[in-house]
Amino acid sequence: MDLRKLPKIELHLHLDCSLSYEAVRRLSPGVTEAEYAREYVAPAKCTNLADFLSRAPKGFLLMQSAASLEVVVADMFEQLRADGVIYAEIRFAPLLHLEGGLSASDVVRIVERATRDAIAATGVEARLILCTLRHFTAEQSMTTAKLAAEFRGSLVTAIDLAADEAGFPLDAHAAAFEFALSENICRTAHAGEACGPASVWETLERLKPTRIGHGTRSYEDPALVEHLKREGIHLELCPSANVQIIPSIESWTEHPIDRLYRAGVRLNANTDSRMLTPTTLTAEYEGLHKHFGWGMSEFLRTNLMAIDAAFCDEATKTELRKKLEIGFGGSRELGSTLT
Ligand SMILES: [Zn+2]
Repeated sequence: MDLRKLPKIELHLHLDCSLSYEAVRRLSPGVTEAEYAREYVAPAKCTNLADFLSRAPKGFLLMQSAASLEVVVADMFEQLRADGVIYAEIRFAPLLHLEGGLSASDVVRIVERATRDAIAATGVEARLILCTLRHFTAEQSMTTAKLAAEFRGSLVTAIDLAADEAGFPLDAHAAAFEFALSENICRTAHAGEACGPASVWETLERLKPTRIGHGTRSYEDPALVEHLKREGIHLELCPSANVQIIPSIESWTEHPIDRLYRAGVRLNANTDSRMLTPTTLTAEYEGLHKHFGWGMSEFLRTNLMAIDAAFCDEATKTELRKKLEIGFGGSRELGSTLT
């Protein structure tokens, strides 16, 4: 079975951290492949999340105009199509793209329109998540949540809290998430990546997301694992990125994704970012197969869980389930073996 062709759902993917070398070269002619690998891609093992994120601004700098945002969106969808992704939730922080004179509304409008065009061109379905960032002020966070409300009815369906979990508390962001909840805007938030289970507990209690970005270190607290199961909180796990960032997870074999899956936690595998972490979803699935013996049943079940947790309408979910059934149809007869 060619894992690249397997239909896949991706819920955790940063637009502004996933520029391919081709996209960077187009936006900044003269950047060599060696420079891209050295300056845009994060080290294979970072000291922590902040170290990992230190490479990200290289990409943001190239995304400050309508034309450059369109290039990056089109590049993203070409990567997704080549990877067998049939549905992606793509996240970005509108307030990081204002240096060329665009307003935050302009940024969302441009990315949303480019995403519509890319969906039509590639057949990859998608929704957009607006990120606020840990180091943002309460005002910036609220602006981001209000943008999601302003763009209700478009491809924008949710907000997220990203960036340095260990360096900045949640205080500035609780009001924005409360507003989003009151406006029926879907919510996810990064936690349990740079910090342990206490951060996941706090994020769940104060921001009330239905999903957690990563939540990887939840496995350190059995009571939290039970809570995630009981409440049906979905974890957006990103194995390669987690190995790259989390000091206590030194290699794939130590990643808790299989333990959390066997424990009954709802989750799926994602890439997180395809530039800082040079990976694809196909490569993540290959890793899951190699290190944990995951086969068709695990891939199908986690993709179905991802659809359940997706921030899109029921009609879209029904279509996606049909596509998964067709894509996995022949393989399911083979049980969980990969050939
Ligand atoms: Zn992320």
